[in-house]
Amino acid sequence: MIYFDYAATTPVCPAVADAMVQVLTENFGNPSAQYPLGRAAKDALDGRRAVIAGALSCAPEELFFTSCGTESDNWAIRAALHLQRHKGRHIITTAVEHSAVLEVCKDCEKNGWEVTYLRPDCKGRITAAQVEGALREDTVLVSVMAVNNETGNVYPIADIAKTLRSRGSAALLHTDAVQAFLKVPLRPQDWGADLISLSAHKIGGPKGVGALYVRRALQSRMLPLLFGGGQEQGLRSGTEATAQIAGFAKAVALRMQDLDAILAHTCSMRDYAMERLLSIPTVRVLGTPEAPHVLCLTLPGYPSQNLVGELGSQGICLSAGSACHRGKPSHVVAALGLSKKEAAGAFRVSFSGETSKEEIDALYSAVSRHKETRFPML
Ligand code: PLP
Repeated sequence: MIYFDYAATTPVCPAVADAMVQVLTENFGNPSAQYPLGRAAKDALDGRRAVIAGALSCAPEELFFTSCGTESDNWAIRAALHLQRHKGRHIITTAVEHSAVLEVCKDCEKNGWEVTYLRPDCKGRITAAQVEGALREDTVLVSVMAVNNETGNVYPIADIAKTLRSRGSAALLHTDAVQAFLKVPLRPQDWGADLISLSAHKIGGPKGVGALYVRRALQSRMLPLLFGGGQEQGLRSGTEATAQIAGFAKAVALRMQDLDAILAHTCSMRDYAMERLLSIPTVRVLGTPEAPHVLCLTLPGYPSQNLVGELGSQGICLSAGSACHRGKPSHVVAALGLSKKEAAGAFRVSFSGETSKEEIDALYSAVSRHKETRFPML
């Protein structure tokens, strides 16, 4: 199998799996239990929170474990709106967010909030000036993702934060950093974001665990996500997913050890893939591939669900899943203002530190063959 869908999810390496098995079978205590096994689990949990916080350059107390990036996004938005409920009912986001943000915003609209969806330009870019243009007295939340999962565009979170400050806005800033964490530089102090969503399974951790960074000053007024036993400083009750968290922390530690080399390799694979695939006549890049691991392309007139199906049967995994939903272009591809043929042909290739040139050569041959042997749509 040749895997080019690392933006969808990543495999867990043996060291990460071992860390999880150790917790499942040996250090399996409940971190709230008051005997040595429980205390050992609590110490391990604290240590793991510190590892992930260290990678983000924030305090461990600012990091709350959740069950996934989707949960982090949902909680961040709901909690921000609750915190700001006496100040206004206007939200600014983008038309190209992940559905974990967009669907919450749509639900808010049904309940009386007004939402401005900023549209990207034809290269997938969103600017701080657009946020400034949409800002109102009653804007209480700006939610803009850090890296777009379909195009790899990097959005200017630090500039947006500066804009909010210079305009004296009371709006809180949330960023969905699920595709950014340990892919592009990310430090809450530099970015000025109040809330940052993370997920483990995009960086070699297991599925089913994420985290939300909450700026310390907000925490005492933060809306708890789950009420119960008071875990996660009383904001997200529920016995901690200790094995998932162990896998998350191990994946972070391993990636941090070699981060520069991993990112340099991933970027070089993205650039090599771009060079090879662009040599196929009519193929073109969509958006601006700034993040190291994501490349969105179109083979105009060749519907990507056919391409993905055919390559899948040859053991090559790539995505039209995000880029194509039940035969319709995704909301991200649609927002780029493409022709029907370009939109239909959109596909995403995504990379990791494990990707090799040989794999990319195989992809190139398979895409070329697909183009030669299939009739284009009319
Ligand atoms: N946000 C972005 C940008 C994503 O790419 C994803 C996953 O694809 C999510 C949120 C959701 O994360 P999770 O799968 O952990 O719920």
